[in-house]
Formats: sequence, C-alpha cells, structure tokens
Amino acid sequence: MLEIKNVSKIYNEGLQFQALKSIDLEVEEGEFVGIMGPSGSGKSTLLNLIGTIDTPTSGKVILGGKEPAKLNSEELAKFRRNELGFVFQNFNLMPTLTVEENIILPLTLDGEKISVMTKKLNIIAERLGISELLKKRIATISGGQAQRVAIARAMIHEPKLILADEPTGNLDTKSSKDVMGLLEDLNQKEASTILMVTHDPFAASYCKKIVFIKDGELVKEIYQNGTREAFYDD
Ligand code: ADP
Ligand code: ADP
Repeated sequence: MLEIKNVSKIYNEGLQFQALKSIDLEVEEGEFVGIMGPSGSGKSTLLNLIGTIDTPTSGKVILGGKEPAKLNSEELAKFRRNELGFVFQNFNLMPTLTVEENIILPLTLDGEKISVMTKKLNIIAERLGISELLKKRIATISGGQAQRVAIARAMIHEPKLILADEPTGNLDTKSSKDVMGLLEDLNQKEASTILMVTHDPFAASYCKKIVFIKDGELVKEIYQNGTREAFYDD
C-alpha cells in the first residue's frame, strides 16, 4: 500500500542539507510500523513526505498505487483527506471548536450531508469512548481525551493509512496505554495500516515492525513477536 523508492530529500538549495538519503521502504496493508531514531535523523521529514505535506527531491513515494507528487494542489488536498489520517503529538485540534466540530471537520470540508456525518460521528465516538465529550470544547478536555479526539478525526474518513507522530509524546502512562490500545484495536480489528514515529519504548512495543533511521538513512529493521516486551534500544 505504501512504497518508498530511493527517496532523498535535500533542504535549502544553497546549503544542500541532505535530510534523507536513498530511503527504500515498503509497508503492506494492515501493518503497524514504528519509525525510531535520534532527534534530527529525518523521521519528521520522512513522515511529511509520506503525508504528502512535502515532496521528495528525488525518488518516489507511491501510496495506494498513486504518486501524490503528480497531483495538483486541489487533488492533493482531497487525496490527503480521503486516504490519510494524521495523529500528532500536540493534537492539532482547533481549541475553540467542540469535540464533535473537530471530528467532523474533514467531512465538512468535503461537503458531506449532515445525516451521514452524524451517523459516522456517533459510531466513531462510541468506539473511542468519547460520546460524553462531544459538546465540550477542546480547551476543556484532558490530553488523553484530546488524543482520542485526534484519533477519531483521523479515522472519520476511514483512511487507508494512519500517520502518527509521537502520539504518546505529551501523555501520562495511563493515557499512553489507552491511546496505544486504541491504535492497536484499529490495526487488529479494523485492519488499519499505521505508521508511527516515536521515541517512546512503550509505544514502540505495539509495533510489529520497527525501522531505525540515523543521519537520514535506514540503518536497521526489526520484527517483534506478539508479546509486549518493553522495547529498549539505542
Ligand atoms: P527528526 O524528526 O528525526 O527529529 P527531522 O526530519 O525533523 O528529524 O530533521 C532532519 C534534519 O533536517 C534536521 O537536521 C533538521 O534540522 C533538518 N530539517 C528539517 N526540516 C528542515 C527544513 N524545512 N529546512 C531545512 N532543514 C530542515
Ligand atoms: P520534531 O523534532 O518534533 O520532528 P523539529 O523541532 O525538528 O520537530 O521540527 C519542527 C518543524 O521545523 C518541522 O516542520 C521541520 O520541518 C522544521 N525544521 C526543523 N529543522 C529545520 C531547519 N533547520 N530549518 C527549517 N525548518 C526546520
């Protein structure tokens, strides 16, 4: 479902800083893949390329058989909303809107019917245990609740691929466990494909495959068995 072929990214034409060097990576449908590596190693750059927020300097990113770099900006915005779900560390929610307004925002942008939106909203809120929060404003809920809302918003379009950047980065132990449990359910029960950047060994323990990136290169790939052993590595 995702193919990254010989992808390089160079920032700043003048300074020529190479953030990614000839990356090859394939992600199959239904995989739960972690990306780990030191700060500055290129994780966000890679996620931005996959998330179609940025384009590679060379090489190809192919998502669901399409090459986002070839789409015009209107097609790209639609592609992003329909095919991808984003879950960020700082939640990226609109603080002055309510929980339900935030969740249905991607559908509103597509001009979806209210009856359809309400139905989808209720199903997803129920599944993520946030039905009681729908009328609250984002500013009034906890970090763990906000991350559930972010996951709900990422899911509302039933995206093929969920991209998560440090989803437990701002959460306490209990909320981290809840959020990772949700992502695990989405992966196992709904067959969502998940790609997650994380520094958190606990979050990484949920991934079946972890790729390590260092100085813009993929240096190692490991597979974990089903047991949840805490995962510690350099
Ligand atoms: P990570 O997510 O692993 O911390 P990043 O992908 O954010 O790493 O950054 C990789 C390298 O690319 C870093 O050295 C960073 O400073 C540089 N970089 C990231 N974004 C830009 C940019 N827009 N312009 C120039 N350099 C950048
Ligand atoms: P993280 O470590 O969480 O990935 P960063 O602080 O590295 O976040 O980067 C935050 C944002 O700043 C990213 O969008 C990245 O592309 C951009 N950025 C990082 N380094 C540079 C840089 N040297 N020049 C310009 N933009 C940068």
